[in-house]
Amino acid sequence: MNETDSLKSRYTALTQKGLNLNLTRGKPGADQIELAVGLDDVLKGDFHSVDGTDTRNYGGIRGIPEIREIGAHLLGIGSDQVLAGGNSSLNLMYIVVNMLVDRGLCGSPLRSNQSRSAICPSPGYDRHFVAADQLGFKLLTVPMTDTGPDMDQVEHLVRTDLSTNFIWCVPKHSNPTGCTYDTETVDKLAALPAMRAGTPDSPFYVLWDNAYSVHDFAEPVPVLDSIDEQASRHGTNDYIVQFASTSKITFAGSGVSFIGGSERALDEIEKYIGAMTVGFDKVNQLRHARFLQGPEGIKAHMAKHAEVLRPKFAAVQRGLSEELGNRGIANWTDPTGGYFVSLDVKPGTAKRTAELASAAGLAITPAGATFPYGDDPMDSNLRIAPTFASLDDVESAIEVLGVCVRMAAEQ
Ligand code: PMP
Repeated sequence: MNETDSLKSRYTALTQKGLNLNLTRGKPGADQIELAVGLDDVLKGDFHSVDGTDTRNYGGIRGIPEIREIGAHLLGIGSDQVLAGGNSSLNLMYIVVNMLVDRGLCGSPLRSNQSRSAICPSPGYDRHFVAADQLGFKLLTVPMTDTGPDMDQVEHLVRTDLSTNFIWCVPKHSNPTGCTYDTETVDKLAALPAMRAGTPDSPFYVLWDNAYSVHDFAEPVPVLDSIDEQASRHGTNDYIVQFASTSKITFAGSGVSFIGGSERALDEIEKYIGAMTVGFDKVNQLRHARFLQGPEGIKAHMAKHAEVLRPKFAAVQRGLSEELGNRGIANWTDPTGGYFVSLDVKPGTAKRTAELASAAGLAITPAGATFPYGDDPMDSNLRIAPTFASLDDVESAIEVLGVCVRMAAEQ
């Protein structure tokens, strides 16, 4: 049998298995969620925070002190620079972007600007793009490299196009490529807002979504430079807004989220948020602070996540190498943390690959989703999210995916 026929017969055999595999969203697996089940009884009837606040009552938009310490650890800044929020950092990002438009943050609101746009390093996180689009920003794609966004293109845009108002960044174990920004990139990003010093009606912000700051599962553990320190050198702290959450630490969607920013920025954000809520869920904040305890507790807890994730990510690498290695039709990333593997297939075949996979019972994130407007100009990138499936399913799914990538490349 020639290669094409043998691929076809493998594909037919796989489709006949009635598979129901899913590598779509980056959700923690059931065994990961189970690791935080102790959250449920950690309070033991004591609802008071370290400063005496009764967390069952109204008040305190910045959050209780012990959870702000946790946020400070996740973001690598001081706890006085942290606001602890509710159950989703994406929600906080949306609030901040909305605030840039209708009230402004340490500067003029953008609402009267004729056009607004967001710089979107791609492949990137689809929900960032959707949020910016929904809030009226045009999405401008810049390529991701192994060390972060292509800074020549980013700097060119910020210098020459006053409609650009912010950039989305996932600086460590980026979604989906897994890369961590290097020192030069962090420094250049921190300097961007200073380029707009002379045009106060068109401020520029860096939205620093450090969603995977402690989510390492293999060596080498990358070290991310502090954008806050670099911003202090450039005098741009008011324009760098950081985000994190415990969604991939404790319960996804039922954890605690954080904003990190300058005193002035946090003050303004607190006032803005104060018009829409009486405060976030402080009981959940207390529960999290008691459960996670501090840097050492977080480290020990994340080591347990790593134990669960390491074999799944290893299975992805093994399966992709077996099916696609040395064939010149695909490249993929080999992250040491985070939630994704980014797979680039032969240009023009990502959509076809996803269709073939779907017909064989494997759901993957729609081709194109990692680019603004769901449009990958090369039709090449696929995001693999192996955390939610069981190890057996990950192994089967990667075999199916590999066969589909090869078939699509041949057609
Ligand atoms: N940011 C990034 C980069 C993510 O990958 C995710 C989840 N996939 C989120 C934010 C969502 O975070 P949260 O659950 O805190 O809203």
